[in-house]
Amino acid sequence: MSLRKNQSIFALNISKLIVYAYESGYEITLGEAYRTKSQQYLYFEGYNIMKLGSDLKLAKTDPKSKTMFSKHLKKLALDINVFKDGRLLDKNDKELFKPLAEYWKSLNPKNTCGYYWGWDYNHFQMSA
Ligand SMILES: [Zn+2]
Repeated sequence: MSLRKNQSIFALNISKLIVYAYESGYEITLGEAYRTKSQQYLYFEGYNIMKLGSDLKLAKTDPKSKTMFSKHLKKLALDINVFKDGRLLDKNDKELFKPLAEYWKSLNPKNTCGYYWGWDYNHFQMSA
């Protein structure tokens, strides 16, 4: 199957995930979807652009990604901000991500997400 076709299936399934989240009492805001190779390299090597007064500066940080082969590079991943009762969920809310992770996996056998890795809980992707 072509990358473009997989991207379309991914986008449709993301829309289903968002509807499912709202029906289950969550609220969602959108985070990062497409990532350029340059941005991925900065994440992988652990650099971020910081504002220093009125200047921008490249600063060393902890790496934000463990790979140079992120599905974000292929438009097959999305980070979403998940809220429950008005509160942004984070890594301490693992069990609250579980219903979304299970629904996401049920939509397509190629779907997986950070819940199953034990980190990056707000990351949803499709392998292709
Ligand atoms: Zn991600």
